[in-house]
Amino acid sequence: MRHIAIIGSGPAGYYTAEAAQKQWGDDVCVDIFDMLPVPYGLIRFGVAPDHQSIKGVARRYEQTALSQNVRFVGNVKVGHDVSVEELQGLYDAVILATGAPRDRQLGIPGDHLGNVHGSAAFVGWYNGHPEFAALDPDLSGQTAVVIGMGNVALDVARILSKTREEFAGSDIVGHALERLMTSKIRRIIILGRRGPHQIMMTPKELGELGHLSRATPWVDPKDLPDLAEDALLEPGMRKSVTQLRSFATITRSHHAAMPLEIEFDFFASPRALLGTGKVEALEVERTRIETGRAIGTGEFYRIPADLVVSCIGYQTTPIAGVPFDERAGRFANDEGRILRGLYCVGWARRGPSGTIGTNRPDGFGVIEMIAQDLTSGEGKPGGRGFDALAATRKLNVVTFQDWKKIEEAESSRARDGAPREKFVDIAEMIHARG
Ligand code: NAP
Repeated sequence: MRHIAIIGSGPAGYYTAEAAQKQWGDDVCVDIFDMLPVPYGLIRFGVAPDHQSIKGVARRYEQTALSQNVRFVGNVKVGHDVSVEELQGLYDAVILATGAPRDRQLGIPGDHLGNVHGSAAFVGWYNGHPEFAALDPDLSGQTAVVIGMGNVALDVARILSKTREEFAGSDIVGHALERLMTSKIRRIIILGRRGPHQIMMTPKELGELGHLSRATPWVDPKDLPDLAEDALLEPGMRKSVTQLRSFATITRSHHAAMPLEIEFDFFASPRALLGTGKVEALEVERTRIETGRAIGTGEFYRIPADLVVSCIGYQTTPIAGVPFDERAGRFANDEGRILRGLYCVGWARRGPSGTIGTNRPDGFGVIEMIAQDLTSGEGKPGGRGFDALAATRKLNVVTFQDWKKIEEAESSRARDGAPREKFVDIAEMIHARG
């Protein structure tokens, strides 16, 4: 029997558990740990609440979770309640699938000012992450600046733009929905340090901005390269740029009819955030592109900013004793192996890129590697050993069956048409399991 501990119950964690089952069948026991009492990580707390079809992938993870040889071990913080070293003593392999939950820092003057938020915090706020539920962003100003041109920037701009009706069927948490409905924001500027050919946005997600009921996107035609240059782009990117081109043709009368504008500001690198206590403006340097890189031109300008959300990527949270690559912001690893017996997958291995499905081959790859490293089960106690340790430490472990009760309680208190109203407080989650 092989005993595997996976730390993190998001997509990377569950795909890896699925791979372990394929590899060893009934000859493996998998424990999936999570610091929270609820599973699914990025699916619950990262994927936008109005993208319920993407969240549907959790049903697949549930099938894995309900197998005889897979357990959910919730409400246990590895590195705090139990160390990685202790888990290595109990399991044949420990796999870190902890994602990249920390914001990359802007690192410019003024980034500590009030109402400047990283996307992990802002997305966590509207998705009900216990750590960020109390963020309390101020939406009483006119202008929001969203820094970065990836899909997270699109999520944030879209969520800031939607009406109550457009949130129907979503699981946006009540506190965020009510705050958003009082929003006075009329202008959202998406700021990119490079140009239209260098965006990280995918076509479908970009296209959604063109179908909002009270907001319209705007691209300055002057920022677009010659049409002929699009032919050099790979097909997905070409589609995204075609979307941008369509935003540049939206008529003035359509803009005038919409209360909210989502403006793309390309070739614009943030240099400083200005304000007294709270952010009031952003100082930006114009850039030009040289061999794909943004180079400052020395031309500076200011834009008003009552709210700033920086969507410039994420980093993995280090765990005591585990080698960490500070520059890359993830665990130091070779194709997923940190050292024999200790591995990482998903964003914790390769950084925050790709789709949810990209994590599946990651999981299968690391399990293949472990199968080679582990010629036979090494007689470790696995889950039985952890249970004994948890009992001596009086850990309040939440099981998958407990989670099903929490889930039921969340769906029974949902708004009309919503799949659930999430608990945003750990004590409330634990209370809901009965
Ligand atoms: P991302 O795709 O890597 O985009 C980050 C953006 O931030 C880039 O435009 C980058 O510009 C910019 N940036 C980085 N550092 C900056 C700085 N110091 N100043 C100004 N701009 C800076 O990251 P993401 O949007 O966080 O998304 C993470 C992953 O999740 C991606 O794979 C994304 O596709 C995925 N995701 C998917 C969906 C969906 O499919 N619906 C939704 C959300 C997220 P440069 O390119 O110039 O570095």
